[in-house]
Amino acid sequence: MESSPLVDVLIAGAGPCGLLLANDLARRRGGLKLRVIDAAEGPSVHTKAMAVQIKTLEIYDDLGLSERAIEEGLVLKGTRVVWGRGQEVQMALRQIPDQSPLPGMLIFPQFQNENMLIDSLERYGRKGLVEYSTKLVGFEKVTRAASSGGEDHILCHCERGGEAFSVKTRFLVGAEGAHSVVRKTLGLAFDGKKFEEEFLLCDCEIEKADAAESGGRYLEPGDMLSFLDGTLFVAFPYKWGGYRIVMTRSEERMGKEATMEEVQKVCDLLPTKLAVKNPRWISPFRIHSRVVDQFGDLERVFLVGDAAHIHSPAGGQGMNTGLQDSYNLGWKLWLACQSKASAALIKSFSLERQPIGRTLIRTTDTAFSAVAGSSVMFRMLRSVMFSALGRKFLLPEVERRIPQLVAQLWISYRSGPLALSVLPRKFFGSWPLQAGDRLPFLKLEKGTTTLDLVRGPHFTVLFLASSTAAAEELCSEVVLKQLEVLKEGAGLKSFLLSCHQDCRGPPGIESLAIADPADFKRKFGGITDGMLLVRPDKYIGYMEALGMKSRLSEYLERLFKP
Ligand SMILES: Cc1cc2nc3c(=O)[nH]c(=O)nc-3n(C[C@H](O)[C@H](O)[C@H](O)COP(=O)(O)OP(=O)(O)OC[C@H]3O[C@@H](n4cnc5c(N)ncnc54)[C@H](O)[C@@H]3O)c2cc1C
Repeated sequence: MESSPLVDVLIAGAGPCGLLLANDLARRRGGLKLRVIDAAEGPSVHTKAMAVQIKTLEIYDDLGLSERAIEEGLVLKGTRVVWGRGQEVQMALRQIPDQSPLPGMLIFPQFQNENMLIDSLERYGRKGLVEYSTKLVGFEKVTRAASSGGEDHILCHCERGGEAFSVKTRFLVGAEGAHSVVRKTLGLAFDGKKFEEEFLLCDCEIEKADAAESGGRYLEPGDMLSFLDGTLFVAFPYKWGGYRIVMTRSEERMGKEATMEEVQKVCDLLPTKLAVKNPRWISPFRIHSRVVDQFGDLERVFLVGDAAHIHSPAGGQGMNTGLQDSYNLGWKLWLACQSKASAALIKSFSLERQPIGRTLIRTTDTAFSAVAGSSVMFRMLRSVMFSALGRKFLLPEVERRIPQLVAQLWISYRSGPLALSVLPRKFFGSWPLQAGDRLPFLKLEKGTTTLDLVRGPHFTVLFLASSTAAAEELCSEVVLKQLEVLKEGAGLKSFLLSCHQDCRGPPGIESLAIADPADFKRKFGGITDGMLLVRPDKYIGYMEALGMKSRLSEYLERLFKP
């Protein structure tokens, strides 16, 4: 059996999550020995997940890909909600420019998303990195003793064209979707449930049945349709003019082949007569919601995306959550490959991401049952919701909340092992910002924003100062020396931010004025003088207010090997 030389990382699965991780590793210096294998014959051609949330667009912005995604995708503007006997309401899905400059939610079919990530690998000299028709069939852990003096590694058993071969790798990532071989080989349970209902998806065109006489269109460009009355029927707009329909199937259709007649029959219940035609993809599907207790073995083997958690499609969260797994893992895995990561840093991947996966299962299950559940309780809940929507008093609140909820900007690792806040105790519970939170979006002078400061694979330190004296104290030689370890790690950029134009930091630290002090106070709370250490995945790791006893060196020891 052929066996290759030792590689740093083998990624099994080139779906969106495997490809994002490959990009994040490939862009970092040091030229990692990286292999990506995929069982399929070539890139996927299916639209599958289409909703790209703002948090994901921020990741794409970091990788220099957001412009292409926005150019090729379609920003969802609103939804027409229809229920009962022809009642309907037009609901806007508002942007949240005070929280992120990126638009949400973007309709960007999965195959286009994957193609973008494949093309992007070329920028790092990794064209043709994905080895298709190559399947992982199992693996075993080999200890240093057993490898006669070498290092601990993973021996992966693969198959290509009927030929078996093995790959030796220091780290293995299972990104091979819901039927993950890596997860099964680790013996991790995939607990959860299968929804009773059966669903159908269909990519097709929708037009008014009497379009020739009445002219005009039923839905405005960028609008979706949500028909929620005993059955679920949702149509998302594609940039090419067609729609993705997702609907519940009637009991008599369950288990049978999906047909356009079935889709048309539900359409006929709408107050406006619509015709569905020219299907590009039509398929029945079942929904599971499951999550593993641990995203790998916490040492050398990791799980990302559907291999670790699968969700109902409510709110378009599934793929987005998986992409964030990869983004959380990328910098940690790179440091592990450089033999710089502490054991705690490697373990933190699962400890931070598993609770997010579990929370999303809970919230998407509830949301999905609320709109599609067939029990009496959910039917009653829907009728209360609709009557409030019908009277429109809830509408502005719903329009404001839904985009915030699905954007995933609220995700925080506050209770994870890598968050350390050193803030005055009396304010502690009420600080709007703490270590573990995403770095808030803030406008700075000359049209720059906090997003510009952190863009790239490095750590970022932000000193916040209300005077030059405070700036000098914050940027002391002792602190700057302690931070050196980050330069040797993933790299470091430091900035001084102040609400006062004349406040300047020491040479070598760029000073920038905060454009809107009121916005700063709202997002950062009472901290006027202090420092934030922002991780390469743009979450605040360490946060300290000036005057508190510093725990910076203790924090850095958590991240790096002695
Ligand atoms: C019909 C359908 C519709 C969906 N709609 C939505 C939606 O609207 N919104 C949403 O958020 N999510 C949706 N999803 C889910 C979404 O597609 C997944 O969350 C997303 O694809 C997960 O990405 P991934 O990279 O983890 O895994 P996958 O996309 O499943 O990729 C896994 C890759 O691993 C490869 N592979 C499998 N086994 C092996 C092996 N043994 N060795 C090597 N390679 C292997 C596969 O060929 C594949 O390329 C949908 C899924 C389906 C099937």
